[in-house]
Amino acid sequence: MEPNYRRCISCRRTAPKQEFWRVVRSHSSNTIALDQGMGRSAYLCPRSQCLKAAQKKDRLSRVLKAPVSKQVYETLSQRLLAETTSLSKTQH
Ligand SMILES: [Zn+2]
Repeated sequence: MEPNYRRCISCRRTAPKQEFWRVVRSHSSNTIALDQGMGRSAYLCPRSQCLKAAQKKDRLSRVLKAPVSKQVYETLSQRLLAETTSLSKTQH
């Protein structure tokens, strides 16, 4: 894998890390954070397909070795919805 390339935990696609959502288990607080923080990280394509697959199999918890609450998945799906909405707005 090239430097700064990461792998999606759902579809195993590799891409530059900025193309992915990053979910982090913070070292210091042991809590789950999105986008920033130092700690064990999981990467996910910003696609509903990958999000759903990850949620179904609870992949984030497995990769991060910590329980990931439903809220994290919900926050990400909200983000996806917001993006879809703004995209359709720009098209009109
Ligand atoms: Zn993916």
